[in-house]
Amino acid sequence: MTFSTLGLSDPLLQAVEELGYTKPTAIQEQTIPTILAGRDLLAASQTGTGKTASFILPVLQKLTGERKRRAKRLRALVLVPTRELAIQVENTIHQYGKYLSLRSMVMVGGVDAAPQKQGLIDGLDILVATPGRLLDMAHQRALYFDELEVLILDEADRMLDMGFIGDINKIIERLPTQRQNLLFSATLSDEIRLLAKTAINDPIEISINATNATAPKISQWLITVDKDSKSALLSHLIKENQWTQALIFIRTKHGAAKLVSQLEKRGIKAEAIHSGRSQAVRTQLLADFKSGNISLLVATGIAARGIDIDDLDRVVNYDLPDDDDDYIHRIGRTGRAGAIGEAVSLVSRDDFKRLCAIERRLNQLIERRIIDGFIAAKEVPVSVLNHVGKKPEKKVAIATQKKQASKKNDRAKSSGHKKSSRGPEIEKANPWSQWFEKNKK
Ligand code: AMP
Repeated sequence: MTFSTLGLSDPLLQAVEELGYTKPTAIQEQTIPTILAGRDLLAASQTGTGKTASFILPVLQKLTGERKRRAKRLRALVLVPTRELAIQVENTIHQYGKYLSLRSMVMVGGVDAAPQKQGLIDGLDILVATPGRLLDMAHQRALYFDELEVLILDEADRMLDMGFIGDINKIIERLPTQRQNLLFSATLSDEIRLLAKTAINDPIEISINATNATAPKISQWLITVDKDSKSALLSHLIKENQWTQALIFIRTKHGAAKLVSQLEKRGIKAEAIHSGRSQAVRTQLLADFKSGNISLLVATGIAARGIDIDDLDRVVNYDLPDDDDDYIHRIGRTGRAGAIGEAVSLVSRDDFKRLCAIERRLNQLIERRIIDGFIAAKEVPVSVLNHVGKKPEKKVAIATQKKQASKKNDRAKSSGHKKSSRGPEIEKANPWSQWFEKNKK
C-alpha cells in the first residue's frame, strides 16, 4: 500500500515523501480512506503508530476546498490534553500542509491570551487547543463554532483522566450538529464509549493494538537496583554506554530537580522538564532536546504523552509509572515508526507491584540485566504474568473501581483473553525466572 493509493492529493504526497515516509503505517491505512469518505471514527491507538498523520493528512485534504475562512471562525478543531501535544500537532500540520495554504494555530492556557485572540480575527482552517482555554475564549466571544466541519478528540482517555470531561461536553454543546467527528484514545474504556455516544455519530471503529505496534521495534530491559543507588546507576549507564540521548522519566518535580543536580555532581549535564517550569522554558527545553542541544532530559509524567521526537534513542524509567498504560506511552516515545529504540527501567523493591502490572499488560517479562557493582540488596522478585493484585481498599471510590474493571476488560479483550482477571489462573512457565536464577549471585 502506498500513500497515493489512499487517495491523498499531490501536495500532501509531496510533503510526505519529503519527510521520508515510504509507506503508510497500519493506522494510516485504515483511517485515511475512512476520514476522506466523511465517516465518523472511533480509533484505539497510541502515539508512536503514526496516529497524528492518520488524521491530519485527510483533514488537510478535506479543508483544501472552495470554502473561505471567515473572521473568528474555524473549520477543524483538534482538542488535545496538553500544551506540549498541541504544539506538536500544529507542527505536523505545518509539515504535512507545507504545499497548501491553510491557516492553523495553537490555543493553550498558561500563556498570554491576547496573541491568540489576534490570531483568530481573520479566521482559521485548523485550531489545535486544550479544552480549558478554548472554552474561555468561546465565553469571551473570541471565536464561534458555526463554520466547524471536523472535530478531532486526540488522546481522549488522557483528557478524561485530566478531568476535562465537563469542558469537552460544554464545547460539544456549542458545535454545529452537522460535522465529522474523529476520536482517538489509547484504550476504549466505558468512559470513552460514553463520550463517543454523545460526541460521535455511527462511527467506524478501528483498533491498533499498542503492544503489537510497539513490541518489535523497542528493546526493553531493566535493572533491579536499590532505590538509593538509582542515580549512581544511571550515571554509570550514561557514562559506560556513552548515551548521547535519553528521555528520563521520574515521579516528582522535586525528584527531577534532585536527579539533575546528582548527575551534575558526577559531571553529567541534564535538564528537567515538569509542570513547575514556565511554558516558555518547557517549550525551549523540548526544542533543545529535539535539536540535540540537550542530550539528557529528565521529565515528570506531564511530558509523558505527546512528546514527538523523531528517532529518540531511548527512554529511561527512573521510576516506573503507576499506570501500565503510561509505561506503554512512555516507551512509545522511542522506536517510532520503524526506528529501533531502547526502553530501560531502574526497578527497586517498592516498584514490584508496578512491574507486575506492566509485565502483565505486555504479556511478557522484561529482560533483566545485571550490572556489576549495582546488585540490589533488596531483591525484586520475578513477577508472575498472572499476578493478581490486592483487592482495592474500601476507601477507594466506586468510580475508580469501575474504571479499573473496565480497563481490565478492555485489556482482556484486546489480548484475546476472555477470562476474568480475578478468576482462577494457572501459573505460566517463566523463562526469565530460570535465567535470573542462573545469573543472579
Ligand atoms: P505519532 O504516532 O503521530 O506520534 O507519530 C510517530 C512518528 O512517526 C512521528 O515522528 C511521525 O513523524 C512518524 N511517522 C508518521 N507516519 C509515518 C510513516 N508513514 N512512515 C514513517 N514515519 C512516520
